[in-house]
Amino acid sequence: MKYILALDQGTTSSRSIIYNDSLRVIASAQKEFTQHFPQPGWVEHDGMEIWETILSTAREAIAKAGISADEISALGITNQRETVVVWDRKTGVPVHRAIVWQDRRTGEAMNALREAGKEPLVQQRTGLLLDPYFSASKIRWILQEIPDGQARAEAGELAAGTIDSWLIYKLTGGASHVTDVSNASRTMLMNIRKGDWDSELLALFNIPAAILPRIAPSSGSLGVTDAAHFGASIPVTSAIGDQQSALFGQLCTKPGLVKCTYGTGCFLLEFTGQDAISSANRLLTTVAWKIGEGSLQYALEGSVFMGGASIQWLRDGLGIIKSAPEVEELANRVSDCGGVYLVPAFTGLGAPYWDPQARGTILGLTRGTNSAHIARATLEGIAFQVSDLVTAMERDSGKKIATLRVDGGASASNLLMQTQSDLLGCTVERPANLESTALGAAMLAGLGAGIWPSIEELSKIRSVERRFEPEITAQSRRSRLKIWKRAVKRAQNWTTQS
Ligand code: ADP
Repeated sequence: MKYILALDQGTTSSRSIIYNDSLRVIASAQKEFTQHFPQPGWVEHDGMEIWETILSTAREAIAKAGISADEISALGITNQRETVVVWDRKTGVPVHRAIVWQDRRTGEAMNALREAGKEPLVQQRTGLLLDPYFSASKIRWILQEIPDGQARAEAGELAAGTIDSWLIYKLTGGASHVTDVSNASRTMLMNIRKGDWDSELLALFNIPAAILPRIAPSSGSLGVTDAAHFGASIPVTSAIGDQQSALFGQLCTKPGLVKCTYGTGCFLLEFTGQDAISSANRLLTTVAWKIGEGSLQYALEGSVFMGGASIQWLRDGLGIIKSAPEVEELANRVSDCGGVYLVPAFTGLGAPYWDPQARGTILGLTRGTNSAHIARATLEGIAFQVSDLVTAMERDSGKKIATLRVDGGASASNLLMQTQSDLLGCTVERPANLESTALGAAMLAGLGAGIWPSIEELSKIRSVERRFEPEITAQSRRSRLKIWKRAVKRAQNWTTQS
């Protein structure tokens, strides 16, 4: 029996999972870590705490599995994307807390770049839009913040990287400073067509090349763990950003296949193969992965800020449910939304609207409205947002989506999935294992270590738990989408001063 250790380093917790060579979970361990909010809109993590929680959960998972490290053939990493760590090469200790993807502190710097007309260049090279979300402006901020940051970076004393790169550095005892192409594609510093750091973008953000990791494939030989960590060396054979990993875990490995992860937010990705499709609808073009010496593979991506988080609001903000799974029972007390529409623009709207001034809105309230209608409208609001993303994606790719593969915590809701199928007019397919993210990293690690000869071999392992088919007419779909559009208009531009 061959085992794979997958490390899933997320925004709120670190998890380690041991899989066997049939991709069955043998053991896992999870630990939350501290979120730091030094100022409104700022979010930081302690790089050492991230490393320590990964190391301790990995040790715990190995112990629970009752195996020894020399039985583990491959180690794979999937991680929160865009978050950056800058560390001292001599000590291996971060020089500042990691700046997290959610952090908005570099908003003004990005606005200045937009006003200077830099967005077309950035979008053409990186497939991204100017936003503080991505790593480049965060690295710039740290280099400016710490004493002699720029000079130390230029002298090669500092190293920077996304979380995959930081973990590989620590796992290999400082021997490997690498990042995978999918993570690199979220830094805003890589030319996604060439797969190399782009000198013009490095100059734009004033980031010395000496600070950056080598860009490596997502699956292949990325380093070997220091034997001191687990008692034996384990080859590190995959690294991939979390959403790309879920795309792979769902085996969306043929162009046109699409997955949506319904977690805190919702992330829709369509695999586009060797085509890096430029979006005309403000979606992102991103690297999906690169396997070994194969060519770069791409995806189109759109995200919704408030997915499962809207359900958390019903629980914590309104108090009409006690736990997220209860939303289903409450919403099912009524047979339809009773004309109530909820636009979950609590933190603005993402793709395809990109309206930071939009705010959450509930429309169509009557004397007959009760909490069940609100719960139902909330689930529907999530599905409507995803259907807007799908429409934008279909316009960009010129292809109608036939099946949507779903995963993530909120995809457990049958009502949400049925509504999604109704609104899209397509099949929604839910796998038995909703944890596609760690699975993707494990699959890529196994491929990298030669446990499976090809992706085709993996298709035999995927199992579908349930398929949802549309139950409403095309006319009813059109009329509901029309009302939704009216509701979105009312939510847009709300906080604009006039
Ligand atoms: P993340 O990885 O972003 O933390 P998860 O994939 O763990 O997210 O999903 C958590 C989200 O799913 C929460 O926002 C929660 O509201 C929602 N959720 C969890 N279980 C259910 C359920 N049975 N029905 C509906 N929503 C759920």
